[in-house]
Amino acid sequence: MADDAPRFAPSPVSPAVLDRLKAAVGPGGWSDDPDRLAPKLVEWRDRWRGTTPLLLLPKTVDEVAAIIRLCAETRTPITPQGGNTGLVGGQIPEGEVLLSLEKMNRIRAVDAEDDVLVAEAGVTLAAAHEAAGAAGRFFPLSLASEGSCTIGGLISTNAGGTAVLRYGTMRALALGIEAVLPNGDIHRGLKRLRKDNTGYDLKQLLIGAEGTLGVVTAASLKLFPILADRTTAVAAVRAPKDAIALLGLAKTESGGAVEAFELMGRQGVDFALKNLPGVRDPLAQPSPWIVLIELAGAEPGQTGAGMERLLAKALEDDLIQDAAVAQNDAQAKAFWALREGQSAAQKPEGSAWKHDVATPVSRIAAFIAEATAAVTAFAPGVRVVAFGHVGDGNIHFDVLRPADGDDAAHAALRDQGARIVHDIAMKHEGSISAEHGLGTMKSIEALRYKTPEDVAAMRAIRAALDPHRIMNPRVLF
Ligand SMILES: Cc1cc2nc3c(=O)[nH]c(=O)nc-3n(C[C@H](O)[C@H](O)[C@H](O)COP(=O)(O)OP(=O)(O)OC[C@H]3O[C@@H](n4cnc5c(N)ncnc54)[C@H](O)[C@@H]3O)c2cc1C
Repeated sequence: MADDAPRFAPSPVSPAVLDRLKAAVGPGGWSDDPDRLAPKLVEWRDRWRGTTPLLLLPKTVDEVAAIIRLCAETRTPITPQGGNTGLVGGQIPEGEVLLSLEKMNRIRAVDAEDDVLVAEAGVTLAAAHEAAGAAGRFFPLSLASEGSCTIGGLISTNAGGTAVLRYGTMRALALGIEAVLPNGDIHRGLKRLRKDNTGYDLKQLLIGAEGTLGVVTAASLKLFPILADRTTAVAAVRAPKDAIALLGLAKTESGGAVEAFELMGRQGVDFALKNLPGVRDPLAQPSPWIVLIELAGAEPGQTGAGMERLLAKALEDDLIQDAAVAQNDAQAKAFWALREGQSAAQKPEGSAWKHDVATPVSRIAAFIAEATAAVTAFAPGVRVVAFGHVGDGNIHFDVLRPADGDDAAHAALRDQGARIVHDIAMKHEGSISAEHGLGTMKSIEALRYKTPEDVAAMRAIRAALDPHRIMNPRVLF
């Protein structure tokens, strides 16, 4: 098979197989009602629209196992879906049976002694935060889609978000996983151990597998103490290189209390001010770049003093030109609304090429400068919105059509634009997918950047676990 050939052409699932799948979950465990299916067949940005002959809604791991066993036996392709907030199209079926985890939404345990939360795959991130908080603990993963994205999706995409700098991605936060493997076997790996050196770590294979190696049905997750002392600030910087210097200063001046360090470019801020109701610029003068810094600590007053020291030193060194420190929760939320609205604010502006890249932190400024120059030379008039979790080297580099441009004409250049941006990220020893995964959007593109040896090893693992490629067949290699 050529690497750039279409890799999956769905053949219709027979009515007999559909009947057996329905019987496996019983009444209430499936739907083929177009109205019920509709929201699950379109992606958040409206870029992918899919089809499915059947939506399955299992309530237990045994029901999931029965479904997958049947799919393996009949070689029926199946796509798992959580909250449908993924940004690379992997959760949208194109003819496959659709397996939603929405009914597996129980918190199975919260244990403050072990510092563990055990949640089923369909639990939303917001519900996990709430359950941890009720037990006097903190689950640190934080993303703008937290009201909808689910533990299963977060595990399967190895989600990142705003607190990776301090706590790591989902890979660092999962202690154990329960999953149904592509032959229907159940991996009962809901351990609560910090140490377990007993051979290959199956959970790490499933984390970031985007539904290709099985269905995650539950996970045990690490909890942390609540750091009640928080200070949030925004600062004006002239250029990304100053933001990176500020990050270094923040790490030392705050005594290791930096929890989030986010960057926003002027274009994205202006879109947010124009397109999102209630969003305000927290700084008195428009700044070319804005940094959002959050410090968190245990001692009352610790982070306020740390932030003051940091901002005073940064002003003195001319790294920042202005700053605003949130005086209460409402102000902190308003700062975050500006940052978290960066994607939504682009929607009314027309077609965009979206890139979720990472580079070493030390290369971010060079990447932004080179990528901006290259896409502007390639497509004059495009509007670049660069923002993201620069504290961990992740930048969302979005390229919108010219203000008076045509959506279709801009969309037609998307693949060439991606090639330009990705080549520059890779030149800086980066990644073409920092946190969203490959999905259907980037799986073929990624073959250009992975070594043939790594692709062969990944294909061998997949073929060993899923010889008939029933699990999310259009995703990955
Ligand atoms: C406004 C917004 C902000 C975002 N910010 C961030 C961010 O800061 N950081 C970040 O990392 N992501 C971010 N995302 C992307 C998205 O929220 C994450 O990728 C999230 O992890 C997806 O979870 P989900 O439950 O919606 O999964 P879905 O979108 O339903 O699925 C995503 C992928 O996981 C697979 N999958 C889902 N559930 C399972 C399961 N139980 N078992 C096996 N496979 C499964 C699907 O097949 C698909 O390939 C953002 C999205 C939005 C809309």
